[in-house]
Amino acid sequence: MLAGVLEAKQIKTDAAALAKWGKDWTNGYTVAPSAIVFPESNQQVIEIVRYAIDRGLPLVPSGGRTGLSGGAVASSGELVVSFDRMNHILDFSPQDRRVTCQAGVLTNTLQQFALDQQLYYPVDFASSGSSQIGGNVATNAGGIRVIRYGLTRDWVVGLRAVTGRATMLNCNAGLIKNATGYDFRHLLVGSEGTLGLITEVDLRLTTPPPAQKVMIVGIPEVKNLLNVLQVFSRATKVSAFEFFSDLALEKVCAHRKLTPPLRHSVAYYALIEFDDSDTEVAFDAFEQALSGGWAVDAVMSQSEAQAQSLWALREGISESIAQYTPYKNDVSVCIHQVPEFLEEVDGFVQANYPDFEVCWYGHIGDGNLHLNILRPQGMDVAEFMAKGHAMSPKIFAMVAARQGSISAEHGVGLLKQEFLGYSRSDEEIDLMRGLKALFDPHQILNPGKLLKATTA
Ligand SMILES: Cc1cc2nc3c(=O)[nH]c(=O)nc-3n(C[C@H](O)[C@H](O)[C@H](O)COP(=O)(O)OP(=O)(O)OC[C@H]3O[C@@H](n4cnc5c(N)ncnc54)[C@H](O)[C@@H]3O)c2cc1C
Repeated sequence: MLAGVLEAKQIKTDAAALAKWGKDWTNGYTVAPSAIVFPESNQQVIEIVRYAIDRGLPLVPSGGRTGLSGGAVASSGELVVSFDRMNHILDFSPQDRRVTCQAGVLTNTLQQFALDQQLYYPVDFASSGSSQIGGNVATNAGGIRVIRYGLTRDWVVGLRAVTGRATMLNCNAGLIKNATGYDFRHLLVGSEGTLGLITEVDLRLTTPPPAQKVMIVGIPEVKNLLNVLQVFSRATKVSAFEFFSDLALEKVCAHRKLTPPLRHSVAYYALIEFDDSDTEVAFDAFEQALSGGWAVDAVMSQSEAQAQSLWALREGISESIAQYTPYKNDVSVCIHQVPEFLEEVDGFVQANYPDFEVCWYGHIGDGNLHLNILRPQGMDVAEFMAKGHAMSPKIFAMVAARQGSISAEHGVGLLKQEFLGYSRSDEEIDLMRGLKALFDPHQILNPGKLLKATTA
């Protein structure tokens, strides 16, 4: 198999490797790849695709496997293409403030490389120690500082990818301006491995931000989260505006043995990060929120260590509720629609599933909510998941009524494929299929992910 192209160390077929590289962070899918290959060069990726075309063998691109939608799961004898061995930073141009990475470079390796050049790569999230740049591009990853710096897409100035025709596509080699028609780079961003295997990425870097301050503000009513966002956005350069509910705080404090940040519990909390130099105006903004009756209390970091401990209250939520095997959903609506959307979902759950608890948190400054419903004690996981699955169309209908997105950051993968129609029109899905057929005429690139597999 692929002899003459790959060395023995670049192919794994043992059961442990199949189980490890055949899946991402999601559970519950069959994991059954036929083999894992670890290319080291663009040419080897081309050869792998050629091999797959000749045999009609589906390929599953695999990055850091931190995906939450089953995009990197191989369930039926696919060949997994892991980018773990394509993990080099290839080039850096200080004049262009641009770095060129192989797809398998870890996100936090790139972040550190940028800092070593006195520059900054701002896309950051809890999994950046394991996720890869290729995976970030394929999912258009966001994270905690989107409100200030945007998504991965905003930093990609070029990329190389091998299409399903076994040809190398070189998209916009680092140019800032390029008005020559369709920009395939942006098609590849967020394509979840269905249009091409991304092998190299050119990324823009920026000036590091000044020291940051973190404030946690207690907000009794959900509608006032947006008033607080507005006064802080006017007064300061907001780097992050996250929120969590009191239930989320309770869970993280219990799990990590942390102390709540405020004297009294409040229904919602906003975690706001801004430039240290804006501290005084941030105080004024808080005063305004207080006198407007939108906020009741706040605490602000006095040191880097305190800032980190306030962040821990937000970043620890996901792991602290994992024991409840929550029904999870990552959705977005326009920022102004967040409060009424959240209240509608709460009302629906209370009316129909009174024993379920909704644990809210997320990137509210981007209109992105993480909805987590906790499994009641004693309820069987399968029964709970079945109820969650039955609930999904109802929740997605509320998203669709606002022209929102059923997947704000994590992609569609296997998890949300059957629900794509709630966010994209038939016309759009038709065009997506047409593009897929052009880029991948043999239907070998991650078939069945994002779009339902077609029988060619
Ligand atoms: C604790 C935790 C926190 C998270 N927080 C966030 C967050 O805040 N924001 C956010 O956006 N995401 C978040 N995620 C989700 C995840 O980390 C991102 O989606 C990330 O970009 C996935 O990168 P990866 O390298 O792990 O990709 P994988 O999981 O390996 O793959 C993801 C998708 O990309 C495809 N793919 C991977 N590499 C390539 C390649 N080289 N070429 C073509 N296709 C490829 C795969 O086939 C799959 O469809 C979080 C995940 C965890 C576990």
